[in-house]
Amino acid sequence: MPHLSHSDGKKIDLSFMYRDNEGKLTNQKPSISGYGVFEGPESGEYNQIEKCLNTGSWQYDYPKYLTFGTTKPKLTFSEEATKELIVELLKQPSTGKLFIEPHLKTRLRLEHNRIRYHGCQAVRHDDHIHFQLR
Ligand SMILES: [Zn+2]
Repeated sequence: MPHLSHSDGKKIDLSFMYRDNEGKLTNQKPSISGYGVFEGPESGEYNQIEKCLNTGSWQYDYPKYLTFGTTKPKLTFSEEATKELIVELLKQPSTGKLFIEPHLKTRLRLEHNRIRYHGCQAVRHDDHIHFQLR
């Protein structure tokens, strides 16, 4: 489901990686659309979402309305597999900027100059990875 800024065909959204209820990595995603089930900031983590909502960017967590339903049983976010995916993406010379919510960048200990913050006028990126091709 491309959002407006995807219209040039160079921007791609990818789901995070999850484990099923037996702890195995799965290709299933927690929402039908792939959007709207967030890995939000835990207490003590930097909360960019609250900041954006508090400064009037009401659309920032709008994707919560775009799940089209959630899958059951509940899947759990895999930090290791999601990190591995992002690291692989960044190894590709064709990968340009990559967006992920700041608290997840910190939690996954991701350091890379192509990981950027997308700004409050976008939507939150703690339900998917956004990257663009050079
Ligand atoms: Zn995107």
